[in-house]
Amino acid sequence: MLIAANWKMFKTQSETRAFLERFDPPEGVDVVICPPYTSLGVAVESGRTIYAQNVHWQNEGAYTGEISPAMLVELGVAGSIVGHSERREYFDETDETTAERAEAALAAGLGVIACVGETEEQRDTGMMEGVLRRQVGALPRHDRLVIAYEPVWAIGTGKTATPAICQHAHAFIKSLTDARVIYGGSVNPENAGGLLSQAAVDGALVGGASLDVDSFTAICRLAIPS
Ligand code: PEP
Repeated sequence: MLIAANWKMFKTQSETRAFLERFDPPEGVDVVICPPYTSLGVAVESGRTIYAQNVHWQNEGAYTGEISPAMLVELGVAGSIVGHSERREYFDETDETTAERAEAALAAGLGVIACVGETEEQRDTGMMEGVLRRQVGALPRHDRLVIAYEPVWAIGTGKTATPAICQHAHAFIKSLTDARVIYGGSVNPENAGGLLSQAAVDGALVGGASLDVDSFTAICRLAIPS
């Protein structure tokens, strides 16, 4: 099981240090923390596996505001999220740029968590499978690439996919690719057990509930098979 924390634009360096000093996850679960760029260095010092939340496709160049794979590698960062729905919605990220970011990160030796997922409207109009086929189809195939199924309607909304919805979508994604598939969308200590027990669920990408060390540790514990 892989449990990843997406801290989004939360936690300064001192808050990151305070979290990681207290964080003591159980053995037997792969844990990844994705802090904002400014906290990556402090987070790497903790010895935990640290991913960025995005990465550019060039190793250097005139791309104001971007961070390259080489910069992450030098810092000791192990990978990056790409294609998060907030990047797609607010920063015009597309399937193409997501794939370019993923390819460059993989070529630099980084791991990748690539996010896919349908909007509520797409689900309601029967487009879920088509959207997932398009988004997954654009991604490279690689053993260091993990797919996060993050239905947009479930992210930061408190509306979690039911375990059955999650299982169905993950099984569909697995019919398209060999990648591990983790679930993201309002995961918390109350619903994580049911979601993580689904056969096609290989872990979770946790946003809001990963900001509190006790709640994130509780989710990590639920990932240990009983
Ligand atoms: C996310 O941002 O990847 C996410 C799943 O957020 P939340 O858990 O807050 O819905």
